[in-house]
Amino acid sequence: MSRVYNFSAGPATLPEEVLKRAADELLEYGDSGQSVMEMSHRSKEYQAIIDDCEARLRKVMSIPDNYKVLFLQGGASSQFAMIPLNLMNKTGKADFVITGQWANKAYSEAAKLCGAENCNIVASSKDKTFSYIPELDKSKFNPTADYFHICQNNTIYGTRFAELPDTGNVPLVADLSSCILSEPVDVSKYGMIYAGAQKNMGPAGLTVVIIREDLIGNAKEGTPTMFDYKTHADNGSMYNTPPTYGIYILKLVLEWIEKMGGLTAMKEHNEKKAAILYSFLDSSKLFKPTVQGKDRSLMNVPFVTGDADLDAKFVAEAKKNGFINIKGHRSVGGMRASIYNAMPIEGVEKLVAFMKKFEAENA
Ligand code: PMP
Repeated sequence: MSRVYNFSAGPATLPEEVLKRAADELLEYGDSGQSVMEMSHRSKEYQAIIDDCEARLRKVMSIPDNYKVLFLQGGASSQFAMIPLNLMNKTGKADFVITGQWANKAYSEAAKLCGAENCNIVASSKDKTFSYIPELDKSKFNPTADYFHICQNNTIYGTRFAELPDTGNVPLVADLSSCILSEPVDVSKYGMIYAGAQKNMGPAGLTVVIIREDLIGNAKEGTPTMFDYKTHADNGSMYNTPPTYGIYILKLVLEWIEKMGGLTAMKEHNEKKAAILYSFLDSSKLFKPTVQGKDRSLMNVPFVTGDADLDAKFVAEAKKNGFINIKGHRSVGGMRASIYNAMPIEGVEKLVAFMKKFEAENA
């Protein structure tokens, strides 16, 4: 077997230990005589799996009791619509910070469903291809907005909010798709957190929503049943068939995180990896990081040589050497190394060694 180092932005590399355990249990889970994939979601065996997954997520993230955890489908992209349908219900207005393509989609979908005139853009970093997190001027916040939306880690551009905006009583709604479980977060600071699973949590197909209870149950008239958080909250994420196998893998990933020392240890592990890569980029004569200072993501590290042909050569040679999916997003070009929880330190060390060799040969 020769597993590569996979720097994909998602679906992304998973802990080898988790994959091996899943392989061991693939044909028969415990003494159930069946695979988790084949189990009825209404069975006792499966109920134990989803309950254990939720309990572990609550413990690992210290989720307060007045928050519901929902296991949904439709990706983070469906949340762009579900959020306004469920939350834009008092003043019918919301605030947005535009830090990239995903943040913009959350804004556009709300504008489409609830009117652009009700969607306030507090700040944007579009002027410099989203390579920084804009300063937020509090006088631009709407104190009566139904929610304030941010994309906490911007997967494509490699930026992240080092500090959360203080939105007072306005619920902060955050897309954590590419940074959930990478470090501790204070869940009580958010009205809602959501994330697609395919980076730090498991396979694509599972979407996790963590939402304060008082924000549930007031969806706009005409909201489809499946798009109403209340439907899923009232039915323990079992109104319809949940993504059963993805939930099982998340449970295994959470067990792995617990074994690694929880989110504090995960943060240290991620900071170490990011420091190795950024410190090389900061000293390199060939490769340049595209994000500076405190806005730098711990998870997605974009860089360029400044020469598109040389970028392409690097991506191709990296692939030949077992470092795959290192090409930047098509909207920004260059390279991007996504170094999620499951990327081992030696993966980053070996990548840097390879970059040094490439630099010596090409600078
Ligand atoms: N938000 C962020 C921050 C993302 O990185 C992505 C996907 N890479 C999405 C939303 C969209 O997620 P999905 O494909 O699960 O709809």
